[in-house]
Amino acid sequence: MIVKAYGAHSGEQPLQSMDISRREVGAHDVRIDIAYCGICHSDLHQVRGEWPGTHYPCVPGHEIVGRVSSVGVHVEHLKAGDLVGVGCIVDSCKQCDDCDAGLENYCDAMTGTYNFPSTDAPGWTLGGYSEQVVVHERYVLKVRHPEDQLASVAPLLCAGITTYSPLRHWNAGPGKKIGIVGIGGLGHMGIKLAHAMGAHVVAFTTSESKREDARALGADEVVLSSSAEEMAAHAKSFDLIINTVAAPHDLNAFLVLLKRDGNLTLVGAPASPHPSPEVFNLIFKRRSLNGSMIGGIPETQEMLDFCAEHGIVSDIEVIRADQINSSFERMLKGDVKYRFVIDSSTLAD
Ligand code: NAP
Ligand code: ZN
Repeated sequence: MIVKAYGAHSGEQPLQSMDISRREVGAHDVRIDIAYCGICHSDLHQVRGEWPGTHYPCVPGHEIVGRVSSVGVHVEHLKAGDLVGVGCIVDSCKQCDDCDAGLENYCDAMTGTYNFPSTDAPGWTLGGYSEQVVVHERYVLKVRHPEDQLASVAPLLCAGITTYSPLRHWNAGPGKKIGIVGIGGLGHMGIKLAHAMGAHVVAFTTSESKREDARALGADEVVLSSSAEEMAAHAKSFDLIINTVAAPHDLNAFLVLLKRDGNLTLVGAPASPHPSPEVFNLIFKRRSLNGSMIGGIPETQEMLDFCAEHGIVSDIEVIRADQINSSFERMLKGDVKYRFVIDSSTLAD
């Protein structure tokens, strides 16, 4: 089936309207009419060729919500009309240890929602800046929020799970002091989620203008990361800091804020590397530095259900498809509160 999409023909060109094809619904497939798709900073990194290996045409988008329009003959847990989401994963090997553990995100054969090898035309996956998508049932999540919140649910599919997963992995909760670095799409969700888990939350920002917002999002304290004085006041005190920043910077500034056995988790994925941190900042106090990539499918469903139960959604600005390019520029300037979400009905305008 041919559907409307928005994508780029090269890293130097703006995104534009294009027609793409979606496969017929197989026995285990679900066809989804996409209602909204969030704009993740990863979309910009990939479509502009900042990360290596971009295939063109590239249609980004992995924060997809919509309604099931048809299902394959073997699909039992979903039916036409259901509200669903699709995040960053549309396939995996389904038989390795990682898949068995529900950690499809770490499967060597994980197929990302865009720019990953596919047997569908054109030979790689095309993402959610499109009217429809066809996905194997295993990777389709149920949305239990009220339908009028659907647009604000979209960013949970990447920004939500990417912060939820390390928060759970490192046991965020009451009695824990958690830092969230960067108040963007991921960071604002990290603040909301860590707060809902009962942790003491400190937001780190480079933007003085976000101070008030951070508190409204659930931060107990807000630190301007450019202020040496404000940073020093938190030395050796954190259990966990999640760093969402999309650009290279000095990690030492955050490592020294960890207490003994504290952990700095990198989720931001800049196009060029951070300067290597000082080894002594790890040796002293047995600190750890690690990374985390999105989350597995069962954990993504758990996160969606947790958010539905706690009334958590993303703070969004809904845009038309023809505003995607200008939204990329605004995202680069940090001028979004806090996620752009494309109204998919405007793709055909
Ligand atoms: P975003 O909305 O642009 O937010 C990034 C935030 O980082 C900004 O709002 C800003 O917050 C802070 N920042 C400080 N200095 C910056 C600089 N020089 N350039 C850019 N940002 C700066 O991006 P996002 O969608 O949250 O994504 C953040 C990063 O995570 C991206 O690299 C993305 O590719 C990556 N990502 C990783 C995963 C994963 O699985 N690990 C999943 C999704 C996205 P303040 O104004 O508060 O300082
Ligand atoms: Zn993303």
